[in-house]
Amino acid sequence: MTLHLYNTLSRQKERFAPLNPPHVLMYNCGPTVYSEAHIGNFRAFLFADLLRRWIEDSGHTVTQVMNITDVGHMREEDEEDAGEDRMEIAARRENLDPWKIAEKYTDLFFRDLDALGIRRAHHYPRATEHIAQMIAMIEKLLQEGHAYEVGGQVYFSVESFPDYGRLSGNTPEDLLAGARVEVGEDKADPRDFFLWKKDPAHVMQWDSPWGRGFPGWHIECSAMSAEHLDKSIDIHTGGEDNIFPHHECEIAQSESSNDGTPFVKYWLHTRFLQVEGGKMSKTLGNLYTVNELEQKGYSPLAVRLLLLRGHYRQLLNFTFDGLDEAAATVDRLQHFAADVSEIAGDTPSPEQGPDWAEAAWNKFVEGMDDDLNVSVALDGLFTLVRESNRHDLSSEEAARVTAILRHMDRILGILQETPDVQLEEDIQALLDEREAARGAQNWERADAIREELASKGIEVLDGKGGGRWRRMRPSL
Ligand code: AMP
Ligand code: ZN
Repeated sequence: MTLHLYNTLSRQKERFAPLNPPHVLMYNCGPTVYSEAHIGNFRAFLFADLLRRWIEDSGHTVTQVMNITDVGHMREEDEEDAGEDRMEIAARRENLDPWKIAEKYTDLFFRDLDALGIRRAHHYPRATEHIAQMIAMIEKLLQEGHAYEVGGQVYFSVESFPDYGRLSGNTPEDLLAGARVEVGEDKADPRDFFLWKKDPAHVMQWDSPWGRGFPGWHIECSAMSAEHLDKSIDIHTGGEDNIFPHHECEIAQSESSNDGTPFVKYWLHTRFLQVEGGKMSKTLGNLYTVNELEQKGYSPLAVRLLLLRGHYRQLLNFTFDGLDEAAATVDRLQHFAADVSEIAGDTPSPEQGPDWAEAAWNKFVEGMDDDLNVSVALDGLFTLVRESNRHDLSSEEAARVTAILRHMDRILGILQETPDVQLEEDIQALLDEREAARGAQNWERADAIREELASKGIEVLDGKGGGRWRRMRPSL
């Protein structure tokens, strides 16, 4: 089997065939930086990381772009803040201007991204830095008759794009029944949506051909995807809540401004993370961040495993029992990896290992190729561990198991041996210094550094190859 992905647009699994192989253009809807991203958001971002790793592993190259939404937008789903702009509420709450709010939460987003071992995308375009591109796209839409201006505000005309509703499965009747016209709106059709909005009370404002105002949320992704990737791209991802209206609107804007050329070939959506069986919300107090979980003593790698473990198209339920279990699994896997690598020593890995090891690898591939079914892939990993423990491994066998394990972990990223996990620079410097001390047989210095690293929560694993380490789990 080759890679198959479930396309929300066609509602079926399709064989993955990029537009211009072997290159793949991928856009991920990123965070709105008005507060710390929660672990639900990171489920969506981690999925993008996993997808990229597997696509690259399957022989492609990827250009990955994730937007940073730093312009405030009103969202109805935030029940506690209904109708108010999230960025401005945050600004008031923290007594900072919205630009500072965006900067603060963008930094925190990157901190958590690194903690979770999520590889950096190639570009993180900020909405506020692409106002000119958005204005140009809106102008094009106006020229082509897909948009209209009323008193300094510009709307997209849904009627002008007959495909509207295809991604979400909404019919024009559903859309008409569900659409509302809010106070201050003067739409020709209740389904129409903002491209440019006028609101003198809004703090972030820009000049435009229609007067001062700010862009609608959807136009940012259409404009930045075209700017940093291309007008037609292979993959676009987001959480399930992005399907409608966000992605439906993006398709309408992008295709209408590009002579109807398809905007995205594969639409992939992550189902929501729930907490203890329910919705995450600030009012329920169950909205966890990576940082909070770290402060409770959990390693980000355990959080990573927990978020990756279920299939991305199924609801995932976060519980502390589940997190404890994930932490124990990461620990067990790290010890296992260290033990097998010890047995392997310097022995090079043979091309083929014992049948049970190859079968475990094939299971992993089969799971990943089947729409990134991590549960099946993990079965492959756990079979590898179980079978290795049942056999008395020769050094060749251990070398092959180690190679397979490393390969699996280039995708999963839950062991410390991956080159992707970023170490704080000072820790790396200490590890390097310790290796040098050991080389010079300066055991005293090597031991002192080991202790210093332990005080930073890093356990050094000596053995052949040297320089291996893992993060200790603080006691709970
Ligand atoms: P936002 O910062 O609200 O724009 O969300 C950033 C990304 O996280 C979007 O792709 C959302 O669809 C996704 N997202 C939000 N909440 C969850 C959740 N509970 N589980 C999974 N993804 C989510
Ligand atoms: Zn988006």
